[in-house]
Amino acid sequence: MPVTQFSHGSPIADHPEGIPRLEEFQTASVLFKLLSDVSRLRIFWLLCHCEVCGTELAAMVDMTPPAVSHHLRLLRSSHLLVSRRDGKEVYYRAADTVEAQALHHMIEEMLEISCPKNLSGDDHG
Ligand SMILES: [Zn+2]
Repeated sequence: MPVTQFSHGSPIADHPEGIPRLEEFQTASVLFKLLSDVSRLRIFWLLCHCEVCGTELAAMVDMTPPAVSHHLRLLRSSHLLVSRRDGKEVYYRAADTVEAQALHHMIEEMLEISCPKNLSGDDHG
């Protein structure tokens, strides 16, 4: 790739593969777009720390179950969440992927919040 014509000692020009193609940024772009919704961003972050069903999650974030379901569907379709059916309920948590982990920690760094070990309220049983 003839990127050297723009080179003025810029480290990117010396990168062996040159500037990555636009399409290579697409995966990240899709995820950033998905998390541009503040409610969705918070739901994703919460699910990095606990596994809850839609009803529990709706109560945690003070939203209606249909609104929460909408966000969960979008997050799951982008593989940021995984779900597990247990009886009549479906439980959600963040996926164990590089992308989900990176976004999880990025959110905490940007918000300057610490990572809670466990947010679930399951310790009352
Ligand atoms: Zn965390």
